[in-house]
Amino acid sequence: MTLAVRYISARTLDTAPAEPSSPGPGEVELAPAFVGICGTDLHIFHGDMDARVAAPAVLGHEMSGRVVRVGPGVEGWQPGDAVTVMPLRWDDTCPACRAGHQHICQRLDFIGIDSPGAMQQRWTVPASTLIRLPDTLPLDRAALVEPTAVAVHDVGRAKVTEGEKVVVVGGGPVGILIALVARAAGADVRVVELSAHRRLLAEELGLTAWDPADDDVP
Ligand SMILES: [Zn+2]
Repeated sequence: MTLAVRYISARTLDTAPAEPSSPGPGEVELAPAFVGICGTDLHIFHGDMDARVAAPAVLGHEMSGRVVRVGPGVEGWQPGDAVTVMPLRWDDTCPACRAGHQHICQRLDFIGIDSPGAMQQRWTVPASTLIRLPDTLPLDRAALVEPTAVAVHDVGRAKVTEGEKVVVVGGGPVGILIALVARAAGADVRVVELSAHRRLLAEELGLTAWDPADDDVP
């Protein structure tokens, strides 16, 4: 028997036996290793998304893990492969998809919100959502691939170049990731953040953090 963590209602989770499943055609069964907690997961936990999320719901869309079993017709994946999941499924037929904007598909399935997520010991997903992880990337860090991809996209859109000065307003998890990616792109980065705790974390990561209430900010 495997277990799943489930959202039941506002501020209430439980642990329950997971639905037994075997991977169908085109599907892969994973053993999640690490699962991040997104701000969206917190909104769901606080009951703010009950209109969208059908409880009991298994959350989790920032994950790393390994392939356990592959379903019929799945090629290129073997048990033991380290993977993360791109948690989006689109229909490829609606007007948004046909215009090339699959991320805003009119019938978008955000896996882990609209369908069961990774906070369970076995998780079956379409093989098409898998992204292979390099052996050199530890799985605890790999669970951050999805939010880091957000940061990479943002820094790419901003066309940040070597030596440029960058200010990131807000040092929450995504702000910090954006700051780290911008630094990796060669930028000279400052993080503006009200919370002393978050400024301290930014500084522990080697970033320079400013308190906007501080008159001494250059
Ligand atoms: Zn669509």
